[in-house]
Amino acid sequence: MRTTRLLGLLWTLGCSATTHDAGPTAATTPVPIALPPSPPPAASAPDAPSDPLATLPPSTHSTSIGSSTNGRLEGAVPLPARGPGFVYNERRSQEARFGTVETIRAIARAAEVVSRAIPDSLLVVNDIGLEQGGRIAHHGSHRAGRDADILFYLLDDAGRPMRSVGAPLDQEGVGFDFGDLARGDDDVRVHFDARRTWRFVQALLDDPEAEVQRIFVVEHLRARLLAEAERQKAPAAIVARFADVTCQPGYPHDDHLHVRWFCSVEDLARGCEDLPPLYPWRAAALADAGVAPVLAQRTRSEDPAPVTTEAEARRNVARQKPHPDVLAFLARRRAWEKAPHPGRPYCR
Ligand SMILES: [Zn+2]
Repeated sequence: MRTTRLLGLLWTLGCSATTHDAGPTAATTPVPIALPPSPPPAASAPDAPSDPLATLPPSTHSTSIGSSTNGRLEGAVPLPARGPGFVYNERRSQEARFGTVETIRAIARAAEVVSRAIPDSLLVVNDIGLEQGGRIAHHGSHRAGRDADILFYLLDDAGRPMRSVGAPLDQEGVGFDFGDLARGDDDVRVHFDARRTWRFVQALLDDPEAEVQRIFVVEHLRARLLAEAERQKAPAAIVARFADVTCQPGYPHDDHLHVRWFCSVEDLARGCEDLPPLYPWRAAALADAGVAPVLAQRTRSEDPAPVTTEAEARRNVARQKPHPDVLAFLARRRAWEKAPHPGRPYCR
């Protein structure tokens, strides 16, 4: 079985550096990810259990309490293992599939939009949160059912959709599933699928039930998504919203999107707290709904989950005796690992 050890090792590099997010995989226990040689399963899998999810009353069924970094969750629902156009990554902890009804439905709905619009689309979802929310290993947030890590749609060298892996992607949108880091003969080149990834993001931002607050993504892939939005002639309001909510945090997010949703209006009355920023459009929407915004007093976790330090992660990489191409990629990655925000108003 192939393993994507680089993912597990790289995830940890930014964990301790950001309040936003940390990757899900411990450096000491790299998680293997299967890379099937065949195209992804049909989008409309017959076992898709999306109906019960669709009928849940969102605001009364689940409640997000507190913030993404210090919160918890009541009445959580799990993302189904598989649904129309998506899978929960079977290599991830199955305990990390839980979120608010709004969050889970938003992911499932957007994935289905993509699979209807573009054949052979399969979204791979990584960690969301625990059933009760709260502290979750390897993450700085993901505590209140309103954060999810989502892998980019990927293409192979021939431009065909392939099963997503958490491979870091360079400025050209190219990365590698290095497999065994010590071997150079099992590497598979992967390409950013801007078309499907943009369509997914557009569907998320267009969803009236769950309002996206943040999408953490590396600067150069953000630029590619904006270019793709233009190519697809996406609605200007959605493109503007995307531009507002996207930031590259401490961890570069060059191998996945981290999406964070605002508290629902109902949950705001029950203890849900948003992290900054409070965008003007959000403030206006809450005012229209007659609801006051609730912002968390503390943005950092009061009881942070243990994370692997950068030095530990680099030692773990070294222990795998990576072949020269891996080292060369990691050296190149330095160029975008800590790219600053180019002055956008809502990125710190
Ligand atoms: Zn995350």
